[in-house]
Amino acid sequence: MNAHPPTPPRPAGPDGPAPAGTGHLPPDVLGDLLDRRLTPEAAARAAAHLDACAACRAERDALAQVIALGAHARSRTPVPADVWPMVAAATIHEGEVRRRLLRRMRGPLLLAALALCVVSAWLGALVGRELERRGRRGADASAPDAAGPDARTLERQMELLREREREAEQKRARLPRP
Ligand SMILES: [Zn+2]
Repeated sequence: MNAHPPTPPRPAGPDGPAPAGTGHLPPDVLGDLLDRRLTPEAAARAAAHLDACAACRAERDALAQVIALGAHARSRTPVPADVWPMVAAATIHEGEVRRRLLRRMRGPLLLAALALCVVSAWLGALVGRELERRGRRGADASAPDAAGPDARTLERQMELLREREREAEQKRARLPRP
């Protein structure tokens, strides 16, 4: 039974410590108040005391925080229980899909790699032959030197570029000056 005097005069000042036996609200009453388990009369008495007593208001606020934290923790607990199997299933599924995809792709990937090897080898041979051919032509046109076919090809290309530049210059020279 709660024996709190209704709206007592502030017993120990607004924020002062609660002296013993001054009829402050005990924690279980505060808890019942927060859980709305008090009778309307008891709730009204407690509310009236809280209006007048800062110490009990502070205790009620602290208790409310604890209850809220507990509710938060409780509300968080079932989430993994429901969600984790789904997350795990999704992750496992994703891994399995990736594995299956890789397994299915292994053949085509190997073929593609092989094709790339063959094509690059073929291209290399082709380019090599072409370079050699051009090198021979370049060597025929100019004096043979110690440089490899690559250098000779480069020289020949530079020569061609210079030639084209000269032609363009001559064309420009032939144009009537403004
Ligand atoms: Zn109080």
